[in-house]
Order: sequence, then structure tokens, then C-alpha cells
Amino acid sequence: MAQQTLRQKLEILADAAKYDASCASSGTARKNSLGGKGVGSTEGMGICHAYAPDGRCISLLKILLTNHCIFDCHYCINRKSSNVARARFTPQEVVDLTLSFYRRNYIEGLFLSSGIVKSANHTMDQLVEVARILREEHDFRGYIHLKTIPEADAEIIHQAGLYADRVSINVELPTDSGLTRLAPDKNARQIEGAMGRTKARIIEAKDERKRFRNAPRFAPAGQSTQMIVGADDANDTAIIGRASTLYTAFGLRRVYYSAFSPIPDASAVLPLKRPPLLREHRLYQSDWLMRFYGFAPQEVAQAAEADGNLPLDIDPKLAWALKFREHFPVDVNRAPKEMLLRVPGLGTKAVARILAVRRHRRLRLDDVARLTASIAKVRPFVCTIDWRPTLLTDRADLRGLLTPKSEQLELF
Ligand code: SF4
Repeated sequence: MAQQTLRQKLEILADAAKYDASCASSGTARKNSLGGKGVGSTEGMGICHAYAPDGRCISLLKILLTNHCIFDCHYCINRKSSNVARARFTPQEVVDLTLSFYRRNYIEGLFLSSGIVKSANHTMDQLVEVARILREEHDFRGYIHLKTIPEADAEIIHQAGLYADRVSINVELPTDSGLTRLAPDKNARQIEGAMGRTKARIIEAKDERKRFRNAPRFAPAGQSTQMIVGADDANDTAIIGRASTLYTAFGLRRVYYSAFSPIPDASAVLPLKRPPLLREHRLYQSDWLMRFYGFAPQEVAQAAEADGNLPLDIDPKLAWALKFREHFPVDVNRAPKEMLLRVPGLGTKAVARILAVRRHRRLRLDDVARLTASIAKVRPFVCTIDWRPTLLTDRADLRGLLTPKSEQLELF
């Protein structure tokens, strides 16, 4: 076989990494500039954007060490039975690429994942070696996100956490039965065991650093995971429940949702069609409701339709408010923060602003309008000194009034 150039390997292994959403600029519309239309991309390969622990948006070189794999996960383009071009970097090649891109100011860090070659331990060793060389031999201080392999020994995963800012372990599918069917080489208990140990080590390292300033850091940006949506028959209620359990049990920083996309040469057990991308977006919105808006997972699930899926035409917060109208209207000048956060159309920043302003004066509807992108969405659910929605809140056709008009999609 002809020797692959570094550029050929980079093309294959950057493209193969794009299916992993767990460092992605999630929750944004998917756009790209292919074909010379505009500049920039939120879904292309090679360089992705992530948020650092201090909230900065940073660019990461996003690649696989190799797309060879001894596992046969049906939903994965890199599974052993897949007919794709294969490539493999050495750890030193990844180090050199990272440093050269870093010096040219293209990136501020590295997101490194891998298929499994030879064994989980062998692969994990190689991933750790990349991070070790960067940190110890080059004093690299940029961000490193390492994907870890739950089947590897706990000690090697521990090493990964000592060098990386963030580690992630993919749970892959929302249900155990989905995992057994679609990823027969993986084991849900093994995945959870690795996440549990990582959580314990993150907590231990934080405690130690409180006592000893020079104690080693362990994954200071925490751990995250990814769930594939739409490859099995788990509905949104099941996915929300699973995400909530993962946040609570393993202290995850993020759960990423990745709408399953039919891959070339797909396995016959997979659905032929991808789920609507809007489904992924609604799941991110529901995730936000749990993390920043004080919704319990069962409350988010209450927003779902009879089939257990969130409505696609309206966001989950509006869906919840329409179902539980007895909680509205909310008096913007008196209501506690928890209730203001439930008002459709009011984000966390708008609520913080309302709370700050009302210490000095009472708000009018115009004041609220300046804090939201859509006062039409807010009006049925609030009272101000000059506005009461009266019968509007209970109108049978309210959902229709608030549903965004569908737009003609571009044909070309
Ligand atoms: S182990 Fe990872 S790379 Fe290998 S087939 Fe499964 S999902 Fe793909």
C-alpha cells in the first residue's frame, strides 16, 4: 500500500472526527461556507469551537488518532465492517500538527479521539502519549480534550485526566437496550463505571488542590458525554431522563446530543432517514431548561406530546407554559425569579435585568419588550403596570398564534 502523506491522513482523520459532537458549538444552526457562499462553518471538519471553563470560545484541532477500529458499532462510519479509507497518525505526528497549527494561531487547543486499534489499553496509551509529549516536552498550555475509552484500565484513564483539561466518555445511546443492539462490543455498566471513577477523581483532585497548591490538576474542565439521537427508538422523554441521571450521577459538564445521520454504507439495522435536526435543537433547549431555568426533568417531559417527543414547531418552554396555563400570567414586578424564568421568551439575562430594574422602579410592557426578541411570545404570560393579558392566556388558539410561521425553504 502506498505511504499516505500527512495531508492525506489529516483529510481522512479530520473528516472522520466530525461525527463526534462532544466539543461542538452546539445549539447553533448548522451552516457552512462550502461552494464559496460566505465564510465560516459550524459543522465542517478539522477545526471546531468549544467553550473554555472561563467562558471563552476557543478553536480546537479536532481529529482522530486513527479511524481503524476493532469494534463494530452499527451507527459509526469507522466500525470495522465499514468500507472507508483508513489512516493512522503516530502520537508524534499529532503533536507536530497541533504545535504547528498553534504557532500559526489557527487553534488554541486539541480535541483528540480515536477508533480502537489492537486493544482499548493500547489505544488509550497512544492518546495519553500525545497529551504527555505536548505538556511535558513542549510545555503546551493550550486546551486539550481527550476522548477516553471506557474499556481501558482505570490507571490509563487517570493519566489522561492528569494531562487533559476535559475528558469525555460517550454513553452513545440513551438506553441500555439500544446500546446492546447497536454497539454490541460496548457495555453500559463499563461506561458508567469509568464515568463514576472520573467523577471521583475530579472531586479528589479539587479537594487536594484546596489543601496543597501544587497538587496535580485532574480534568479541570470536567467530563462530558455524547448521546446519539434517532438511531434507536428512544423518545425525547427517555433521552431527557437519561441526561438528567447522567448530570446527577456523574457531575457532567455537558451532555451533547447528536442527531443520527445516515452514514455511507450504513448498517441495515439503522433507520434510513435521519431525525429532523430540529429534534436535536429541542433537546438542547430542554437541557438548558434543566440546567439554567430550574425545570425538573419530569417537568420538561411534561412538555412532550403523547408520543413522548417534544413538539418541533414550538420550543419546550412554550410547550410547558401552554399546558400549564394556571401558573400564568406572572406579574413581572412581583414574581419570584423562579417564575420569571418560566415565562416563554424571557431568557436568563432578561430575568436578571428585570430583577435589577425593578429594585428601582416598576416595569411597563415596553420595558420588557426591550429585553426580549419576541414580545408577542411573552405578552400572554405576563402582567406589567400597563398590561394584563385577560382572556389571551386562556385562548384555545393561543398555540397557533405563537407558533412561528413556517418558511419556504431555499430550493437551491
Ligand atoms: S468504538 Fe468508537 S470508533 Fe469504534 S466503531 Fe464504536 S463508535 Fe466507532
